[in-house]
Amino acid sequence: MKAVRFYAKEDIRVEDVPAPQSVGPRQLVVKPLVCGICGTDLHEYAAGPIVTPLHPHVFTGATLPQILGHEFSAEVIETGKEVTRVRKGDRVSIQPLVMPLDDYFSRRGLNHLSPKMGCIGLSWQWGGMGEYAIINDYNANKLPDTVSNEQGAVIEPSAVALYGVDRAKVGAGSTVLITGGGPIGALSALASAAAGAVKIYVSEPNPNRRAQIEALGVTTQIFDPKKDNVVELLREQTEEGVGVDSAIECSGSEAGLNTCCEAVRNRGTVAQVGLHVRKALVDPALWALKDITVEATWCFEVTMWPRIIGMIEGGTYPVEKIVSGKVKADNVVEKGFKPLLDPSGSQMKILVQM
Ligand SMILES: [Zn+2]
Repeated sequence: MKAVRFYAKEDIRVEDVPAPQSVGPRQLVVKPLVCGICGTDLHEYAAGPIVTPLHPHVFTGATLPQILGHEFSAEVIETGKEVTRVRKGDRVSIQPLVMPLDDYFSRRGLNHLSPKMGCIGLSWQWGGMGEYAIINDYNANKLPDTVSNEQGAVIEPSAVALYGVDRAKVGAGSTVLITGGGPIGALSALASAAAGAVKIYVSEPNPNRRAQIEALGVTTQIFDPKKDNVVELLREQTEEGVGVDSAIECSGSEAGLNTCCEAVRNRGTVAQVGLHVRKALVDPALWALKDITVEATWCFEVTMWPRIIGMIEGGTYPVEKIVSGKVKADNVVEKGFKPLLDPSGSQMKILVQM
């Protein structure tokens, strides 16, 4: 079968690999339909291996070269004999995290915090950028006919964003700042609107991305942090100049985090969602003085899929709006990775048609 495999920095190959042979009793063979390229995949390509395993993964045993793809929809081809969740022919959206189901965190429903966690398409033998993949039954979430393959492929990043919105305590009537207008920032704006926020502000330096955020149709104002004094402008727009209720940091930058902490009102909440690649200089004295809460988030709760599928069906979370392009697996580097890595680029989320 054909698969997109990551070998090393700037080395991704589309090549023939053995197809799945046998499936475990609680496993499925699926045929990926559409698969998103994620920021994590871009980091692997540009600077990896980072999360893809050089040595066999502690839980899954996976090692490089790694079939990429952890944001995907698929069709069920074969089910192990103990599988009851889904049937052959079902369309599913993949929750990509894999972990022991009986450790401290998994027993408490916090599977995403398992120290042995692996991820399909990053540290598992199979991924969404292959013609077939083996997954566990708990990774599959059945899609109703009203949810498209494309929407199904975007549920994973949509879960990251919704988890940040939950943790930032965005609710009916909230005012929200989002720093970083990439795919997670865009989805955070959509998820904030779904949660009932009445004023949604986004700060993003790339003008192409600002235009894409504007086109979502849910924002009040979009700032250019290189030119605008975001904190001042937000004060002017909030009652008695107190600042916003919640802020969601989606840029993974020191400046973004500090802007969020300055922009929230006293007793406001900041959720750190973007991944920082270096340490940041922050101002905890200001956090204390303002009595704010800073929540740091990792992935999502693995139980979020049915909730998001329901939101998509109900039309409150139009996650497909972030999709900016679709490419064939053969062109994945030239037409997928490279345009997405261009800092002034106009791509938001590119899906790979398998
Ligand atoms: Zn991802």
